[in-house]
Amino acid sequence: MTVTVEIARRGSAPRERRWVCRKCASEHDPAVVKANLSVCPACGYHQRIGARERISQLADEGSFVEYWGHLRTLDPLEFVDLEPYPERVREAQGASRLTEAIVAGTATIAGTPAVLAVIDFGFMGGSMGSVVGEKLWRAAATAADEDRPLVAVASSGGARMQEGALSLMQMAKTTCAVDVVNEARVPFVAVLADPCTGGVVASFVSLADICVAEPGALLYFSGPRVIAQTTREALPADFGTAERNLLLGHLDAVVPRAELKGKVANYLRLLKGGGQHDGPERYGSSRSRGGRTRRLARYASSRVAAAFKNPGSEPLGGSGAAAGPAEEPPA
Ligand SMILES: [Zn+2]
Repeated sequence: MTVTVEIARRGSAPRERRWVCRKCASEHDPAVVKANLSVCPACGYHQRIGARERISQLADEGSFVEYWGHLRTLDPLEFVDLEPYPERVREAQGASRLTEAIVAGTATIAGTPAVLAVIDFGFMGGSMGSVVGEKLWRAAATAADEDRPLVAVASSGGARMQEGALSLMQMAKTTCAVDVVNEARVPFVAVLADPCTGGVVASFVSLADICVAEPGALLYFSGPRVIAQTTREALPADFGTAERNLLLGHLDAVVPRAELKGKVANYLRLLKGGGQHDGPERYGSSRSRGGRTRRLARYASSRVAAAFKNPGSEPLGGSGAAAGPAEEPPA
């Protein structure tokens, strides 16, 4: 029998773990990086963060109340790839300490009440299976019922292949969920974090009233290799980046993490004040609605004008609420 004994040299300091930037390879104290919202202090690289950390950055302290944490996926297809699907889910639960790839609930964001749903890439690539779709649906229905804006943060590889067609159906389901918040005249803001691809970028997040992304985030439906092979054309070096998506009009803004909470809160306040409709008053008093709508229109026009004068600045867009009388949200 061999026994290995490690003896530390007297007086030697314990080895400090350093955080190494994936982009610029600079080394930093992990506590400093954490305090900098997991952004590299040297180059601004935005490290991927989990749902819990994201919620702690966006929600006011102590305001987040998680809903629907009891929902668990089934295995109706009895799917086995290298291992059975339930086994994969159990491993992901153990590694991430989450029950599914999405955490959702209510919170206040800089004082504004909201429904917050965050997809975590660390749980099976943030893939959208039945539970992710169901929680997004419930988040949207709650937003509509309680007149709270919906804020979704997504970092996802797309559909969950282990659930086959059931996973693809979540694209339709979450698209209908956006209809629910639109019909209820409730604002919907989406934040795309690295990476956001496949069925998630091709469904609900792209339908938000305001859709923003973090700097350097990769956002596309199919990856550059697949597209280059299919089209047999060289793709631009910045293919799929948030910055290129902004240039092409797929995004309303690229927002650094340090500004994200303030910007999202501003968007919610901006959208709360706007929207003329004949249905029940959702936000603010009818006395102030006309003034707010005019201010919103003036603000939007000035931002669009500024964006055209100054390329690279932040244009404000989004479809806003649909026209016509408001209907009561489904129960
Ligand atoms: Zn760096």
